[in-house]
Amino acid sequence: MNIQEKLTQILGKEIAQASNEEIYHALMTIVQVMAAEKERTDSKKKLYYISAEFLIGKLLSNNMINLGIYKEVKEILEANGKDIAQIEEAEPEPSLGNGGLGRLAACFLDSIATLGLAGDGVGLNYHLGLFKQEFENHLQKETPNPWIEEKSWLKKTEVTYPVDFRGLRVNARMYDVEVTGYNNKTNKLHLFDLDSVDETIVEDGIDFNKEDIEKNLTLFLYPDDSDEQGRLLRIYQQYFMVSAGAQLILDECTAKGCDLYDLPDYAVIQINDTHPTMVIPELIRLLVQRGMEMDDAIDVVSRTCAYTNHTILAEALEKWPVHYLKKVVPQLMPIIEVLDDKVRRKYDDESVAVIDRNDTVHMAHIDIHYGFSVNGVAALHTEILKNSELNNFYRIYPEKFNNKTNGITFRRWLIHCNPLLTDYIDSLIGEGYKKDATELEKLLEYKDDDAVLEKLLEIKHKNKETLCAYLKETQDIDISADTIFDIQVKRLHEYKRQQLNALYIIDKYLEIKAGKIPAAPVTAIFGAKAAPAYVIAKDIIHLILCLQEIINNDPEVNKYLKVVMVENYNVTKAGKLIPACDISEQISLASKEASGTGNMKFMLNGAVTLGTEDGANVEIHEAVGDDNIFVFGASSDEVIEHYAKADYVAKDYYENNPAIKAAIDFITSDEMLEVGQKENLERLQKELIGKDWFMTLLDFDSYKETKEKALAAYADRKAWAKMMLTNIAKAGFFSSDRTIEEYNNDIWHL
Ligand SMILES: *Cc1c(COP(=O)(O)O)cnc(C)c1O
Repeated sequence: MNIQEKLTQILGKEIAQASNEEIYHALMTIVQVMAAEKERTDSKKKLYYISAEFLIGKLLSNNMINLGIYKEVKEILEANGKDIAQIEEAEPEPSLGNGGLGRLAACFLDSIATLGLAGDGVGLNYHLGLFKQEFENHLQKETPNPWIEEKSWLKKTEVTYPVDFRGLRVNARMYDVEVTGYNNKTNKLHLFDLDSVDETIVEDGIDFNKEDIEKNLTLFLYPDDSDEQGRLLRIYQQYFMVSAGAQLILDECTAKGCDLYDLPDYAVIQINDTHPTMVIPELIRLLVQRGMEMDDAIDVVSRTCAYTNHTILAEALEKWPVHYLKKVVPQLMPIIEVLDDKVRRKYDDESVAVIDRNDTVHMAHIDIHYGFSVNGVAALHTEILKNSELNNFYRIYPEKFNNKTNGITFRRWLIHCNPLLTDYIDSLIGEGYKKDATELEKLLEYKDDDAVLEKLLEIKHKNKETLCAYLKETQDIDISADTIFDIQVKRLHEYKRQQLNALYIIDKYLEIKAGKIPAAPVTAIFGAKAAPAYVIAKDIIHLILCLQEIINNDPEVNKYLKVVMVENYNVTKAGKLIPACDISEQISLASKEASGTGNMKFMLNGAVTLGTEDGANVEIHEAVGDDNIFVFGASSDEVIEHYAKADYVAKDYYENNPAIKAAIDFITSDEMLEVGQKENLERLQKELIGKDWFMTLLDFDSYKETKEKALAAYADRKAWAKMMLTNIAKAGFFSSDRTIEEYNNDIWHL
C-alpha cells in the first residue's frame, strides 16, 4: 500500500477533509510502524548513552527524512491542499533538555543510528520538562511545559524495575522513543518514568512540594536546587535514572548470554557529564548482589564506563555531601567509600580524592578513576582539562584522556531546517554530502561563480523573510529582511556574555542619538532561557527586553537598529532562526565555553562567525581561515592568567573607558527606569562594575572594533557571499557523524 492510501485509511477520510492534528497523528503512526520494522536486533555489543537530557526537538519531519519519505509526504499533502509546515505546528516539542549538552545527546543518537551502530539512549521522561519561558513586564516568567499528549512518540512498555531509596521503593517504568537512522536501522531512546507522578501538584508557576517523591520525581528537568529539598530531589532523579538503566543493561546483556565478567564485551556506557555518575557504584552494587567479588565488580565496571566532561566551570562539576547521599541512597555509600579508599591508598593527593575532607563526594572524580576514558568536547577544552583543570588526573592517567570535538546532525540542521539551501547544494554537488559531510568542500569550486554567490544571497534573504513573518505572527514584532541579522541564541549565562552584546547595543544607541548614523541597519536578535534561580542571568534578560522596548519605539533609532528577544528559545525556534542569520555571535569568555554547537549550526547555514577564540570556534577559525571569520578578544591563556593573578578589575575599565562608562550608566538612566525595574537594573549594574566575574569589559573595545569590521564587510555583497560559501563548504568536519565515528573508533569499539 502506498503512503497516500495508508494515510487515507488511518484518517478514515480524505486528506483534504482532515485537520492538521489528525494528519500529524496519522503520519506518526505510519512513521512508528516503518521505524519499528527497521529495529536493530543483531548486535553483541551495545552502547548505552546515559544522559539527564535529550533535547530531541520535534520528531515527525526528521523521522520522515531519515526514513526517506519526507519529500513524498510533502507532495501528497500539497496535492491535497495541506502544508507540511502547518502539520509540523501541530506537534509539541518534547521538553527533555536544557541546552547544548542535551542537544548534543540528541544529535549523537541520530548519528549513531545513521552510522548503523547499536546504541540506545537512557534518560528520564520529564512530564513538564524544562520550564517554558514567558515574558511579562520585561521579565522572564517560568511556567510548566507539558508536552506529552494522549498519543505521542512515547511507547509505554511493560518493562519495569524496582528502585530503592531510603524507606521508599518505587517502580521505574520504561518508555521508548524510536530513533531512526538516515537510510539505516532504528535504535531506541529509553526514558524511565514513575506511574504515580502527578502533574496536579504543581501550584503557582513551577512550584511544587519537593518532598513528595512519588508524585514529583519525573515532573521537571533540573528542579530548583537553591534549597536542600531541591538538591535531594536531583539525587533522587539521578539515582532513579541510573538504577533503572543499570538493571536494563544487565538484563539485556544476560539475555544475550553474557557472563557478567565479560560485561565490557557486551556493553559500553557513555556517561554524559556527571549527572549519571552514580551508574558506576550502582552497577558495582548490582554485580556484587549477583555474587561477584567487590574487586572484580569494580574492575568490570571500570572497563565498561567512559566519561564525557562538558565544562570547566567549577559550579557545574557536581559535588554531593555524604549526608545527602545517606539520606537518599544509603546503599551506595559503602561502595563509594570503598572507591575513595582505593584511591587514597594509591595516590597521596587530596585533590584527586573521591570523598574530600569536608565529606563531599566529587562525582567527576568517580568517573575519572573508575571509567576507562575521559574526553573533552573540543580541542581547546581538552587541552585545558589536561593542562590545568584536571591536570592532577591527567598526570595519573594520561592514556585515558582524549578529545572528541562536538558535532551536529546535518539532517536536522541543514536538510530539515533549510530546504532552500539544501536543494541548491544538491543541484551543485549532488547528495553525497548527506552521508559524507566532507563532500561539502566541493562547493569551493564555485567560490568565484557570480551566479552561485548571487543565489546564496537570494536564499538567505528568503530565509530572513520567513523569519520576519514568523516573528510577526508569534510575537507581533516588525523587522526588515533588508537589515543585517545579528543573532545570539543560547542559554543565558554570564560566561556566554549576552551582556557584552547588550552593552554594544547601548553604545550604538547612544551613538545614533548623538547623530552618528551607522552605515547599515542592524537587527540584533537574542533568544535565551535563564535558570530560574540565576538572578543575574534573569536581570540580563530584563535589560535586553527593556532595550527592545526603548529602541524599537524610538523613531530616531529604529531605522538603524532594532532589538528582538525571542520568547522560549528551543529547538523549533533554533530551526527558524539559524537559516536566517548573517552574523553568528559566539562571544564567550575565552576558556569558558567547552565547545558550543550553535556555532556549528550557524556556520553550516552560511552565517559568518563573530567570536572569541574559545571552544570549537578555534577549530572553525582553523577550518575557514582568517578571512572568513571575525575573531576578537583576550586569548584563553590570558584569561586563565587573569584568574590566576586575580588582577582583572572591572571598575578600572568602567572608570577609564568613557564608552564603557556611558553604556553601563545607561542601564539605570531615566529612560530605562521608566520601562524597567529599578531593583533588577541596579543589581546588574552593580555586578558589572563591582564584580564582572566573566570579564565582559576586558573585551569591550576589541568586540566593538571587530563587530564594526564585520558590519562593514557585509556591504560588499559578493565578498560576503564568498565568506558564506566558504563557511558552508568547511562545515563538514562539524558533522556529528564524524564525531560519532571517532567515539566508536577510539572508545566504544562497536
Ligand atoms: C544548539 C542548541 C543549543 C546550544 O547552543 P550553544 O550556542 O552551543 O550554547 C542550545 N539550545 C538549543 C535549542 C540548541 O538547538
